[in-house]
Amino acid sequence: MQRALVLDKNKNPLMPCHPARARQLLTRGNAAVFRQYPFTIILKERDGGDIQPITLKVDPGSKTTGIALVADFKLGKCVIWAGELTHRGQQIRDRLLSRRQIRRGRRSRKTRYRPARFLNRRRAEGCLAPSLQSRVENTLTWVGRLSRWSPINLLSMELVRFDTQLMQNAEISGVEYQQGELAGYEVREYLLEKWGRECAYCHATDRPLEIEHITPKSRGGSNRVNNLTVACHACNQRKGSQTATEFGYPNIQQQAKQPLKDAAAVNATRWALWRRMNALGLPLEVGTGGRTKFNRVKQHYPKVHWIDAACVGESGEKIYINPSQAPLQMKATGHQSRQMCRVDKYGFPRTSPKQGRVHYGFQTGDMVRAMVKKGVKRGTYIGRVSVRAKGSFNITTPIGTTQGISYRYCTPTHKSDGYFYEKGEAHSSATTRVAVSPRQNSWIRK
Ligand SMILES: [Zn+2]
Repeated sequence: MQRALVLDKNKNPLMPCHPARARQLLTRGNAAVFRQYPFTIILKERDGGDIQPITLKVDPGSKTTGIALVADFKLGKCVIWAGELTHRGQQIRDRLLSRRQIRRGRRSRKTRYRPARFLNRRRAEGCLAPSLQSRVENTLTWVGRLSRWSPINLLSMELVRFDTQLMQNAEISGVEYQQGELAGYEVREYLLEKWGRECAYCHATDRPLEIEHITPKSRGGSNRVNNLTVACHACNQRKGSQTATEFGYPNIQQQAKQPLKDAAAVNATRWALWRRMNALGLPLEVGTGGRTKFNRVKQHYPKVHWIDAACVGESGEKIYINPSQAPLQMKATGHQSRQMCRVDKYGFPRTSPKQGRVHYGFQTGDMVRAMVKKGVKRGTYIGRVSVRAKGSFNITTPIGTTQGISYRYCTPTHKSDGYFYEKGEAHSSATTRVAVSPRQNSWIRK
């Protein structure tokens, strides 16, 4: 169950509580709603209270970042809140691209004889592209928010895909990659990265890949990483006991001998995030992708972003995940358009300059509840509002957008804060697989 976050009367975080408890406190008037997303209540009388250690765990992804709050109770570790943060990297990229193209067009039209300027822009060392930077900032926003509203004492994030330390010297480590051995997962991630996540023979990417011996074991091939590649099941079967050269791929052997260059710098965004998280002042644990997968597979959890986040690092072992938990979906929307007015495809102004952003007390991005009493649009709409100066708003709900709803029907539930929220759905395979109560669970420490 997603717990409700709790603050005391001085806005200091207390232990998150069960939603039933939150309802009880609200109906008795002992608490008030502080925020709708994530659901947070503030107690009117309480000042301080008992807290248990909570870890904030993050699995950074390019499209979606999984976030989980894991409490360390006496009975064991348990996910008490989860969220999935959807980034807007692609949107930022597209907008900057269109701005650049319009500017280029305008330049060649208006100032045709001005010499081209180039190489006169300096970038800070290690700066990230805006689309990547936004992923770092989105994640940090949520780390900051959650540590303000819940008593977090440890941060944990997945930093790299595989651990070269654990593999010793990656290229010469001989590994029995059996199921259930941590180093095997690290080797697999290493190989996937090295071979570009595709079958080395047919370049298929849409199917599960197997670890494959270039010179087969039956012909004296070793388990070393420089004799391993990744292949799809069909190619692996067809190759059988041939070597890669006999199979018709003489280059594979050569390619396998070259080590993956600079394995640590594979993901610059994650390192940037790591530096910023480190600066927050809380202890920070890091894990590898291999470790995350190892923890998740060992506990038979499905692959979902928030569960991956819960399984990050050494603290990701022996975690109880409630089957009915539905993560909060948080979608980055940005705050406002930077453009002063809309332009047509040639870059000419199409609209009047933008006006104030607040109309009738509402602003685009606010979450509202609209109860339409009459007409064809009769019904209740709960979603994100797009305001119009005339007072006829659009409301986006998980089902779709309804246009032309008057501001008179709308009640604000959550002020715009750069994100669109949706309640996630409980993962069905999580429901069937994890149907044990924490008490019956054998992982619980005594
Ligand atoms: Zn293949």
